[in-house]
Order: sequence, then structure tokens, then C-alpha cells
Amino acid sequence: MAQPIYNLHNHTPFSDGAYTIDELCEAHLACSAVPFEGIGISDNLFCTPSSREIQGERQFERTFASETRDYVETVHAARRRWAGKLRVFCGCEINWPLNKSNLGTIREMLNGIDYVLFEFVDWAGLTLLANQARRWPCPVGLSHVDVTRAFPTTSMDQVVRTMANARIFYEANTSLMPLADHERWFNTLPNHRVTIAIGTDTHDDLDCINQIAEIVRYLEEKGLGEKFLQPRLREEEPERTTVPQSASSR
Ligand SMILES: [Zn+2]
Repeated sequence: MAQPIYNLHNHTPFSDGAYTIDELCEAHLACSAVPFEGIGISDNLFCTPSSREIQGERQFERTFASETRDYVETVHAARRRWAGKLRVFCGCEINWPLNKSNLGTIREMLNGIDYVLFEFVDWAGLTLLANQARRWPCPVGLSHVDVTRAFPTTSMDQVVRTMANARIFYEANTSLMPLADHERWFNTLPNHRVTIAIGTDTHDDLDCINQIAEIVRYLEEKGLGEKFLQPRLREEEPERTTVPQSASSR
């Protein structure tokens, strides 16, 4: 039985996308080529131009906390509107070079975020991320990475092992089509426990949604059909720290 299909990479006007969450949901439901179970919104967080000049954790948090909360609330509201029709996940995309020195603070700011896509990660970044990926509160992965270009001096085997050991997922993105151009990488993946997200990086062109049919077909042909990322809604998780009133007020 085939796994549910999600397009986990869509931008909205919250960052630099042209279509609202409702418009994206409608477009995915209207797509006859793929029976979408749901979509993920993955707007860029922590990247207003000021983030380059931010000094220290407190200033970072003060700058981005309310923006992040607004975003999560907006996506969760859409999730409730579309319940029963389409599942809506709340992901985000994070620019690695811009944010690599604020990872500890960012990890604490991801309440309600179901998964994180990192873009523009280099090899030093991937090894750093691998060392801490399991400490993140949700799945983390690399968005639309052309492995040969991003890690030119590292073997594919080493890249895939690093990702597998750290449970960092890989995103098969329509921007890499035809995927056959990256065949060596897609022949390497089946031998390793790497989870694969599917995404379009939708900004202002909804046609890319139809291309997911081709991505799924290619991945299934490579024997990767059982490895698709199945995100979980983090608000479904039981409260982890339920401290009784009496114990917290000594
Ligand atoms: Zn993107």
C-alpha cells in the first residue's frame, strides 16, 4: 500500500510566496495527478534583513518571537479550516548561513512547528547539524539540495551516512527535475535509512504541484516509495511537562 503523499514545501505571503494557504489547499485538492493527503507550509522564518545585525540571543528572540507565533497561529487556523479535507502541516524554512549562530535560540522558538527545512547548508553546516539534529523538537531536513554542488569535496556515501545517522531528511524537490540528472544520488539513497520529503518550493507558480506525480513515480521506481516523510502534528503530542500546581509553587 502506497504511503500518503504530502507536498511539504510551500511559501505564502508570510514570506515570499504569492498564494495564501487556502489557495494552496484548493490547488492541491484540484490536482488530479496526485491524491494529496495534505500539504506543508514552509515559510522562511528568522530572516528579515535585520537578522544580520542582531546581537545576542535576547535581541534575536525579541525580534522574531512574535513573528513566529503569528505564523504558527495562522497555519494552525488554516489546519482547523481544512480539517477533514486536507491535512495542513506547519513547517518552516531556515536560511542556514544567516542563522547558524542562533540555532540554540531557534530550537527553543519552534513551538507548534512540525518540521524544519534548512537551505544553503554546506558540508561544515551538515556536520554541525548532524551533531545536534536529534536535539531538535521536530524532524529537520535539507531543502532542494543538489548534493554534488553543495558538497563538492565529500563523497555521496559520506553525505548519505551523515544524514542517515543523524536522521536528517532529504527533500526531493521539483526544482531538481529531471531527477534522472541526479541518478547517482538517487541510486545511493535506497541503501540507507534516509527519509525523503517531497516538495515544490511553491512561490508564484502553482503548475509545479502537478510535477509531484513525476517525482513520486521516479522515487517509487528507485524503491524509495516506503521512505516518504510522514510528519506528525506536534500539537497532537501529549504535554510533556505537566507540573502539578503545588509542585511548581514552592
Ligand atoms: Zn523554499
